[in-house]
Amino acid sequence: MSTDRVVLVTGGNRGIGRAIAERFVAEGYKVAVTARSGEGPEGTLTVRADVTDAAAVDAAFTEVENTLGPVEIVIANAGITKDTLLLRMTEDDFDSVVSTNLGGAFRVVKRASKGMLRARWGRVVLISSVVGLYGSAGQINYAASKSALVGFARSLTRELGARGITANVVAPGFIETDMTAELSDDTQAEYKKSIPAGRFASPDEVAGVVTWIASDDAAYISGAVIPVDGGLGMGH
Ligand code: NDP
Repeated sequence: MSTDRVVLVTGGNRGIGRAIAERFVAEGYKVAVTARSGEGPEGTLTVRADVTDAAAVDAAFTEVENTLGPVEIVIANAGITKDTLLLRMTEDDFDSVVSTNLGGAFRVVKRASKGMLRARWGRVVLISSVVGLYGSAGQINYAASKSALVGFARSLTRELGARGITANVVAPGFIETDMTAELSDDTQAEYKKSIPAGRFASPDEVAGVVTWIASDDAAYISGAVIPVDGGLGMGH
């Protein structure tokens, strides 16, 4: 089993992306992260890129290819929320979330697919959310962007599945990062009541699933949605 493959994680400077990058480094992969600010964890190559900017994504890939080699595993993790109820949601609230969470995945995966097709091997992992399938009041922009990743991965599986490339979705529930730290203590307590596991997860609990789905052991899994949510979505 080869673990010296080249991985690119978007948004690897903090939160879930950082934990994913750390786990890949620990397993011996060559790891690059994109960051708009800050740096990736020790042992990674940090490249600057805003995933809403196709030219910046292209330049980041070129830098990774020149330094580490072609990207064989891509983790589309960068994401944002701009929560508010539908009637208060502005065009910008909607567009910025969709352009980052869904458009960002499109730009990154499109750029990565060139090298994967050449190599006839690749792993695409899209970080979605339990909210994409469960729905969430105040998150129409976010939930729509996250559920769209399922159609994305399944269509990609149909396009590229015969070329040794898999595309899967990992759908975390509530994970302890800056994103959930924004929630008030009362809201956090309320959510915990509805999670069968009774707790939020650490970013590392998502990272272990991502490295597994990118491994040779998962070569025959594609178009799947893998929940990491303590039972909140009951398998969806
Ligand atoms: P954080 O807010 O902690 O980190 C978000 C990351 O995305 C940062 O690295 C940030 O970079 C990067 N990012 C945001 N916008 C852009 C952009 N336009 N271009 C490049 N990078 C960008 O979030 P989490 O770690 O919690 O979330 C990571 C992913 O997991 C997201 O897709 C999120 O939707 C998803 N998720 C999170 C859950 C949770 O409970 N935390 C639950 C389910 C899914 P920068 O530091 O430069 O802003």
